Amino acid sequence: MRLRFAPSPTGFLHIGNARTAIINNLLALKNQADFVLRIEDTDMERSSIESENSIINDLKWLGIEWTEGPDIGGNYGPYRQSERFDIYQKYTEKLLNEGKAYHCFCTPEEIDNMREEAQKTGRNETYNGKCRNLSKEQKQAFLDEGRKPTVRFKVDSDIDITFNDIIKGDISFNSSNIGGDFIIVRSDQIPVYNYIVVIDDSLMKISHVVRGEDHLSNTPKQILIAKALKFELPLYAHMPLVMGNDRKKLSKRHGITSVNIYREEGYLPEALVNYISMLGWAAENEEEIISLNEIVKQFELNKIAASSAVFDFKKLKWMNGNYIRTLENNELFNKMRPYLEKEYSLENMDQNHIIEIITFLKPYCELLGDINDQISHFFSETIDYSSEVRELLKSENGVKIIAASKELFDSVLTEQNYHSDYINLVKEMTGATGKNLFMPCRALITGSIHGPDLAETMRLYGYDKCKKRILAACQLKD
Ligand code: GLU
Repeated sequence: MRLRFAPSPTGFLHIGNARTAIINNLLALKNQADFVLRIEDTDMERSSIESENSIINDLKWLGIEWTEGPDIGGNYGPYRQSERFDIYQKYTEKLLNEGKAYHCFCTPEEIDNMREEAQKTGRNETYNGKCRNLSKEQKQAFLDEGRKPTVRFKVDSDIDITFNDIIKGDISFNSSNIGGDFIIVRSDQIPVYNYIVVIDDSLMKISHVVRGEDHLSNTPKQILIAKALKFELPLYAHMPLVMGNDRKKLSKRHGITSVNIYREEGYLPEALVNYISMLGWAAENEEEIISLNEIVKQFELNKIAASSAVFDFKKLKWMNGNYIRTLENNELFNKMRPYLEKEYSLENMDQNHIIEIITFLKPYCELLGDINDQISHFFSETIDYSSEVRELLKSENGVKIIAASKELFDSVLTEQNYHSDYINLVKEMTGATGKNLFMPCRALITGSIHGPDLAETMRLYGYDKCKKRILAACQLKD
């Protein structure tokens, strides 16, 4: 089995393309198959090496490993289409010599007119075949006029093109419905995707073309070319597209669509791969969080539903939180560190203490960067009380609790028991219970009404900081 992922380096790695890469990678792992990374960079204006590098970077971050590619070479290179023009040229000559393709001298205006005429008359083919049978003299006359020809592939009408798609089942097109003779080499001599993809897949001995459904309509053209060149056809598997929750094509309107932004926002690649791998199929016993090994074991192409899958951004975030919780504490610190350093200077802080705080706060983080908000009250010396907290602390009950807290810290609460005994002693002293006890205590120590376990928060603050907070609360004025 030989697979390929063939991105066009015209921007960042989109989540839809990442899915194609992830699924190919799963199949490669499952079948110990060769996996080719081919860069489809013939759109010279939109392609860039920066984009290629960023795509490669994102693929590596996702843990995807190819066995052949522009960065590592291989037996079937070069792996950038822009470096293969001489190969394509030979096949173009072959098709021209065999009368399966021809030079077309029509101008864009002529083509526009043909398109209009086709629409008016109900003709299926956009191109009317005008240059199919030009004589040598006619061609020369066009060349003398300075026209630069395109190369068109001849599409015979009314031929059934059928294939069995691993995901979609039997698919059938009629050659009369694919727009007529199509361009395979543009007038600037750049060959087009639909043509060279066939040559590359064949020369690179790709056995399975696994890609998004958006390429399904290209497949009949590619099959015709493969047949004209007497290539063996690969097996096809077209994955239904991933949609937003409104069942429209996934776009920025729905949420993050670039892999690099997921990385920046603090998603873990394991979570993204887990979530994306399982779009459109379910694991045995409906488990959602499963290891890559288990996914590889259970995954089959024909398990993917033939209808589109909805990308659930909330679920992915939830899954990410789960992955964060399973990280070993030092590793989690290393992953959170860059986020923390954006807002805090960690240099003079005790690293072990930070790790202890992070370990305590990790259940409250769905993204790595969530730690910044969670940890802020551990790092700040003073509190900016919100109006809600102010009101609570200045209520009769609040004032009573502040006074009791101060008294307790001045007397029985010591470095040993200030965290474990605080709440109970305040309760005894004031008679407050439930919400009336917990909310003001938490608010005066942390500045928030809600948060993780107060006793542990106080322990991690340390005695001095807790006492300072209480003294500050005593100073609360209007
Ligand atoms: N280069 C194409 C794209 O990025 C993929 C071609 C294919 O998979 O056949 O959409």
